[in-house]
Amino acid sequence: MSQSPYIGRFAPSPSGPLHFGSLVAAVGSFLRARSMGGQWLVRIEDIDPPREVPGSSDDILRTLHAYGLEWDGEVLYQSQRVEAYQAKLDSLMDADLAYYCQCTRKQIKAMGGTYDGRCGKLETPLTHGAIRIRNTIGIDRFQDTLMGRIQLDKAFANEDFIIKRSDGLYAYQLAVVLDDAFQQITEVVRGCDLLETSCRQESLFALFGFKAPTWLHLPLVCTTPGMKLSKQNHAPAIDITQPQNSLNAALCFLGQPSVEPRKEMPLMLEQAISQFDIDLIPKQTEIILD
Ligand code: GLU
Repeated sequence: MSQSPYIGRFAPSPSGPLHFGSLVAAVGSFLRARSMGGQWLVRIEDIDPPREVPGSSDDILRTLHAYGLEWDGEVLYQSQRVEAYQAKLDSLMDADLAYYCQCTRKQIKAMGGTYDGRCGKLETPLTHGAIRIRNTIGIDRFQDTLMGRIQLDKAFANEDFIIKRSDGLYAYQLAVVLDDAFQQITEVVRGCDLLETSCRQESLFALFGFKAPTWLHLPLVCTTPGMKLSKQNHAPAIDITQPQNSLNAALCFLGQPSVEPRKEMPLMLEQAISQFDIDLIPKQTEIILD
């Protein structure tokens, strides 16, 4: 059986400039794709306007460029994909594979924290609210290329989760699966903050009849245990005037040998690609920065 060519991606949300944590995800996914002789795509996940920081999409792309992280093809913007998301939702609703729900956080807390599917069992279905998928598959385990077998709580895995929010925004889980399928991504490489969510994405891939990609979750850059470096906790933007040092710091974080500092970043990346060894990446879900 012939293997499909490798297609990887980096999918930042434009909620601020790239910080060291997102650089690690970008470099890790880039090196993995290029060392497999594959494509590396960039997708801007801009479907959450309230969390968006104006100008950060361009800023992220400029930063990737300054690091020599050149992507293949055109950048895909999720904001330009809403018709596809809505078409999928419409067909799911028509086929009764999804339903409206108006339960509040407080009500879900009273259910024990996991939604019990009650709005999906109403004799007269609701006509507005958030939309939940009928998660009849509930995949609770998957194989991560780096972290090995991941097993999740069955109740979490079986939950009818939200695919369109009550504020009308498309949920990350829906958009990411439709786009990974649309872009024919063969492997998702990203930080371990999204490790558990992969089960939900596996469930959607199966429910939609798409082939799921393989998963490779990188250790997360943390400031203290359980506290990831993030735009929300004001991680500093990485320096684009001197990318050499941060590139080597990202390589070191990923357990990779350092590369010779060069003025031309693509030359540094070329060396990093040739040295890339997945077995050197620490199999830890998080690493605390000193
Ligand atoms: N947009 C998500 C983020 O920036 C990443 C999504 C993904 O890689 O699946 O956290």
